[in-house]
Amino acid sequence: MNIIQTHCFFCGSSKPETLVLPEKEQIEDKHQFVDYEPCEKCKEQMDNNYLFLEITKTPNHNKELFKDVYPTGRWFCVKPEYIDQVIKNKELYENNRQFMIDEETYDKMFMNMVNEDKNDTKN
Ligand SMILES: [Zn+2]
Repeated sequence: MNIIQTHCFFCGSSKPETLVLPEKEQIEDKHQFVDYEPCEKCKEQMDNNYLFLEITKTPNHNKELFKDVYPTGRWFCVKPEYIDQVIKNKELYENNRQFMIDEETYDKMFMNMVNEDKNDTKN
């Protein structure tokens, strides 16, 4: 049997879960076995903040998130007190805490965040 240690996609730390695969199954890329369930630490951060996850339509080593949508591995959280500086349209963030943004938007937003408050960015 192949026993695979699972890792948090967001911070890369080991998760308590292991995955057991039948022996004949080849492990070509361990990224394929990563799910997008955050570890406890990341989950706590996401629950208390707004998450911005960068996505791309170009296939990469990450598993498909949705059809033809792949996370790039970059993300950051915004504290609630700063969200109105990031998203001007209040209706957008009233009911959402998680956003998927393309690479161009990510760069634009992330650069703005870095300029405004270095402590509120996470990559
Ligand atoms: Zn994590």
